[in-house]
Amino acid sequence: MKQQIRAIFFDLDDTLCAYWSASRRGLRQAFEEAPLECDPDKAIEAWRNVFSTFSPEIKTDSWYERYLESGEPTRTEHMRRVLTSLGCPSDQLATKLSARYAELRDASLEPFQETHEVLEFLKSKYILGLITNGPADVQRQEIETLGIGEYFDHILIEGEYKLGKPHQEIFDEARRLSGFEHDEMLFVGNAFEHDVQGSKNAGWHSIWVNKAMETNPGSGPQPDAVAFNLWEVVDWLGHERPAYADNPEIEGSKAVAKNWRR
Ligand SMILES: [Mg+2]
Repeated sequence: MKQQIRAIFFDLDDTLCAYWSASRRGLRQAFEEAPLECDPDKAIEAWRNVFSTFSPEIKTDSWYERYLESGEPTRTEHMRRVLTSLGCPSDQLATKLSARYAELRDASLEPFQETHEVLEFLKSKYILGLITNGPADVQRQEIETLGIGEYFDHILIEGEYKLGKPHQEIFDEARRLSGFEHDEMLFVGNAFEHDVQGSKNAGWHSIWVNKAMETNPGSGPQPDAVAFNLWEVVDWLGHERPAYADNPEIEGSKAVAKNWRR
């Protein structure tokens, strides 16, 4: 079955790069620099609390269309709500914090240690693609910052396609672009529902990247394999790792804080 794979599509955030740790570093510095009375940790906690309620709201009609085009409106609204919850409401400071956070987050964004080597190794053997959720401008900037665009034959971004994972249509579109059958497609991603179950429901093979050591929810479609390092995708495909991939420092890749975004 693994020999059938002809196209591999990857998720971006926390599959190929340490998005959440970059986010946390960016937030911390932005809050430290801001004229806030409270401790940066308290501000980060407030940001997390707003995240849990505001994230589902972003998918509703009032925000979603603007969110698809740009991360700015919802990021600024997020900061506005954080400042309000901290007892220091300010639209002006929210706008400034939003811009500074985006700048610092992007500056902190790094690929995982093995990302470039694995993509380079796979590129000569498979059609490669990316399916990433998020605003068009933010995701394009990330691809640019990470310098990974050249590896991919197809890049599908929620903000550009106007629909994201786990919807089957975006997986179907990726497969159509590739020109292969369902069992020739492999998806590699860290989000169990969006990536693993989304791709399995679309009839693909699926590898769950679980650097954060999250617990498998147990119900619903299951991944074909679990990888803690992207070289394990190469292993699963049946290739021998190149000599330079020996002894990957798996610990060094665990840049995602497991519970941080809950
Ligand atoms: Mg992800």
